[in-house]
Amino acid sequence: MAKKQKNNLKFDTDWQYDPAPESPELAKLNDSYDLFIDGKFVKPTGGKYFDTTSPSSHKTLAKVAEADKRDVAKAVTAARKAYEGTWSRLRPSERGKYLFRIARVIQERSRELAVTESLDGGKPIRESRDIDLPLVASHFFYHAGWADKLSYAFAGRKVSPLGVAGQIIPWNFPLLMAAWKIAPALATGNTVVIKPAESTPLTSLKLAEIIQEADLPPGVVNIVTGAGSTGEAIVRHPDVDKIAFTGSTEVGKLIRKTLAGTDKRLTLELGGKAANIVFEDAALDQAVEGIVNGIFFNQGHVCCAGSRLLVQESIAETLVRKLKDRMGTLVVGDPLDKNTDIGAINSKEQLKKIQGYLKVGQREGAEIFQTSCSLPKRGNWCPPTLFLNASQSHRISQEEIFGPVLAVQTFRTVDEAIDKANNTPFGLSGGVWTDKGAKAFHVSERIKAGVVWTNTFNKFDPASPFGGYKESGFGREGGRHGLEAYLNVIEAGGNR
Ligand code: NAP
Ligand code: MG
Repeated sequence: MAKKQKNNLKFDTDWQYDPAPESPELAKLNDSYDLFIDGKFVKPTGGKYFDTTSPSSHKTLAKVAEADKRDVAKAVTAARKAYEGTWSRLRPSERGKYLFRIARVIQERSRELAVTESLDGGKPIRESRDIDLPLVASHFFYHAGWADKLSYAFAGRKVSPLGVAGQIIPWNFPLLMAAWKIAPALATGNTVVIKPAESTPLTSLKLAEIIQEADLPPGVVNIVTGAGSTGEAIVRHPDVDKIAFTGSTEVGKLIRKTLAGTDKRLTLELGGKAANIVFEDAALDQAVEGIVNGIFFNQGHVCCAGSRLLVQESIAETLVRKLKDRMGTLVVGDPLDKNTDIGAINSKEQLKKIQGYLKVGQREGAEIFQTSCSLPKRGNWCPPTLFLNASQSHRISQEEIFGPVLAVQTFRTVDEAIDKANNTPFGLSGGVWTDKGAKAFHVSERIKAGVVWTNTFNKFDPASPFGGYKESGFGREGGRHGLEAYLNVIEAGGNR
């Protein structure tokens, strides 16, 4: 087993920021939340509630209703009625107005939503405030603009909505994933039944309040909270026309099997194992920032995280030294503190999974490096971690860890870098760092992934389609491609 390196950096003791926490009171949470069906908050049929807790303190934040099959059936009935009765008949520009209104209320309540997101899910407030919430609002604004322009988006073709969309989302970007699903579905004239993840339901329930405030016709959006079985009930419901799922590859495969032989449409956004490729001609300090952002952002709970680093052999030593120095400055701790870089791991189960991989990596012979940053006593924490000398066959280079853990490998030639980057079952994203434009184009065209960033990482825009290759799923979200996933598109004089 490789020896564990200790970090000798003194950043922790040299100086520190004073704490600058947001108040948890800003979240304005209720003690309990019901299901949002047909425009109203209603009690679950089975009368069951579950606790949602804070991963940084393990305190219970609220009780949340658990929807069973009967509740899902009610939600689908409400969505069907709203689809037939109002939403699909509404003038597209009117649909757009509702979406604009939702976007504006999100902006007005963005501080409350950001604090709720960080409390419930563990991500640093700086991210929920500066990344998640602005992107959530911009997704609604962007799709509001499309609602009455679909005939331009699909010029020469006829488009019509699919009907009722069943949507299932994970815990890493709870409100952002809800926005990615709901905004395009509504803009294209569909109605929705959506299920947030069990560990992060609160911002979806606040979105339900916003939807009420925006006066959306009842039943257009229904939000059913619960566990995996609630999601399964949506997938199996015969009156759902489309399933949009974001989550693990394992559950994505299950859903695909369940839907085989039905005429339901399906899009899957699944896992990833992206490589950040750094060439010797890259701006190294800039690359270090990109690598840190790529894997330590949101505790590595990012499907498109740059969880592998491929560095050209000639600069490997320098780059790794700079990376270790930078890691020594990262603050791990209270998600509500504005100084925090790395927040809490979302759940005890996820922390266990990550810790399992830390053991696997060392057993496989990779060299582990962790900073000696102090961790709070309560809560789920994992310090930023490097695995040096990882090999292509190591599980830490092949499997999605979904934590702040980076596997580092070297390469000598451009072809070797491309081969290594593509040697994974996934294909969601990638990063290329070079000073040479031609090299950036050559490499990014050959990376088999839905998104490849050049000299940057983890940048998102609602106009840009996002999605995977291979086991990262299929279908796109965002941009014109994302609209198409919620439409029947008929070619002039033809059928779809
Ligand atoms: P997960 O277990 O697949 O859960 C995702 C969602 O599916 C949750 O709402 C979950 O409910 C629900 N679910 C669980 N079992 C189900 C079933 N049999 N039928 C229908 N729904 C079911 O994934 P996770 O562990 O929460 O999330 C992490 C994974 O998501 C990672 O692998 C990550 O790569 C992937 N992800 C991908 C993207 C992307 O855009 N490609 C984005 C984010 C995350 P519960 O929460 O109650 O279990
Ligand atoms: Mg929670």
